[in-house]
Amino acid sequence: MRLRINSVRRQAQESYLRQQRFVNDVSHELRTPLTIIRGYVDLLEACGADDPAIFKEAVTSIKNSAQNMQNLVESLLFLARADQGDQPLTKVPVDLDELIKRLIEDRNSPRVQVAKLMPCKILGDAEFLKKMFAAFLDNALRYSPPDKPVKISMTTAEKFATVQFIDKGIGITKDDCGKIFDRFYRTDKARTKTGSGESSVGLGLAVAKWIADRHDIEISVRSKPGEGSTFTLKIPTI
Ligand code: ADP
Repeated sequence: MRLRINSVRRQAQESYLRQQRFVNDVSHELRTPLTIIRGYVDLLEACGADDPAIFKEAVTSIKNSAQNMQNLVESLLFLARADQGDQPLTKVPVDLDELIKRLIEDRNSPRVQVAKLMPCKILGDAEFLKKMFAAFLDNALRYSPPDKPVKISMTTAEKFATVQFIDKGIGITKDDCGKIFDRFYRTDKARTKTGSGESSVGLGLAVAKWIADRHDIEISVRSKPGEGSTFTLKIPTI
C-alpha cells in the first residue's frame, strides 16, 4: 500500500514538474518576439514614421516576430491536440515523389538539389506528410551555410522507400542526436546560429516525429559537428 502511495505521489510530482517546465519554455519563447515588437513600436513612436529606413526595419522585424509567435502557437496547438488524441489523420494513397516535388517547388530555393525521384505510392495523410518533410528540409536549409546545397535523395525497395535530407551544415553531436526530437530542445550551436529574424523554437522535429510514428516511418540521424547531417526516413510503401 505504502509503495503504491509513493508511486502515485511520484507521478503527480513528475506531472507537476513537466507542466512547470512547459509553462517556463512557452513563456521564454514568447518573451523574445514580444520584446522585439515592443522595442520597435517604441522606436516608431519616437522617430520612425519620418525615417523610411527605420520604418522598413521596424516593419520587417515586427512581421518576423509575429510570424514566429504564430508558428509557435500552431505547433503548440498541434501537439496539444495530438496529446489529447484529437488529431485525426485521413490516410489515402499518396504519390510520394509528387509530394516531395511539390514541397521543393514551394520552397523555391536554388540550394535544394534533388536526385532522381521515382514513382512511389504510400498510404498516408498528404498534408501531415508534407508538414513532416518540410521540417527536415527547412532544418537542413536553416542549419547549413547559405552557399551550401541541401540534397534530397530517394530510393525504393520492395516494401519501403528511403528519403534522405543531406546537409553540409553545423552538424549535431552524438549526445544531442538523442534529444533533438524532444519538445523545445535546441542545441547550443542552433541557439547561437539563428538570429531574431528566424523562427526556431525546437518544436518542428517533435511534430515531425509524431507524424512519422503515425505512418510507421522510421527516422535515423547521422551527423558530425562541423561537417553536416543526414536524416534518413524509411517509409512503408503500398
Ligand atoms: P527548431 O525550430 O529549433 O529548428 P526542431 O525541433 O526542428 O526545432 O529541431 C530541434 C533542434 O535540432 C534544432 O534546434 C537544432 O539544434 C537541431 N537540428 C535539427 N536539424 C538539424 C540539422 N539539419 N543540422 C543541425 N542541427 C539540426
